Amino acid sequence: MYFLPLSLRTLSRRRISRARGAKGAFLVLLTACAGGSARPATTSVLTVTTAASSTTTSTVGPAAVAISLRVERHVADPETEDFEATAIATLTDPRGWSRAGFSFTFDAPDAPYTMVLAEGDEVDQLCLPYDTYGLYSCQNGPVVALNADRWRAATPEWTGDLPTYRRMLVNHEVGHLLGMHHPANQCPVPDAPAPVMAQQSTELNGCLPNPWPLDDEVACAARHDQPIAPPFEPDPTGSCQ
Ligand SMILES: [Zn+2]
Repeated sequence: MYFLPLSLRTLSRRRISRARGAKGAFLVLLTACAGGSARPATTSVLTVTTAASSTTTSTVGPAAVAISLRVERHVADPETEDFEATAIATLTDPRGWSRAGFSFTFDAPDAPYTMVLAEGDEVDQLCLPYDTYGLYSCQNGPVVALNADRWRAATPEWTGDLPTYRRMLVNHEVGHLLGMHHPANQCPVPDAPAPVMAQQSTELNGCLPNPWPLDDEVACAARHDQPIAPPFEPDPTGSCQ
């Protein structure tokens, strides 16, 4: 999720601190960007096949994990017309999650995973029970739902350019699809690129805008030990973050 208002930032930090083992933090079902879903997307909006597909495997080990993903744009304005091309280019870029042994294909009509660019009200529905407030993006089970307004304009906190923001948004939310979580430390090395799984839209914490997974994030994802397309997680924690 991106661009949390102040009141939500506190909750987000609580979630992060809880991931470190802090006690007593009450977690709200919030965060769109935490990965997961208790509720697959409604089929009235889009068709998602959650069952195992012959086009998708979850092989642990040196073999690549194939992710068959359908990319859908549910908005029609000129500012979003490059969504499909940008998403595909980002996910097939050698600087991206392919470094962790994932390969992406986009042509299967029955792809088990879907990435949607939509207006806030539709994203809100796709992300339930996460609250996205018409503003944020999420990964929710087999669905990655990106907020079209964020695609158009990024956030006030973002200090990079818009193309970089869009690549970051895709890699961050697809990172959740691959089982990745927000890092405990949002900016481990000041003035260095931020982890792609950090909540960069909200605050860079002294790090530089970065759309690509860092080496340690690649190493974590390459373990292939997290469930793909995790359902709603009220208290998400990573295995190596
Ligand atoms: Zn996130």
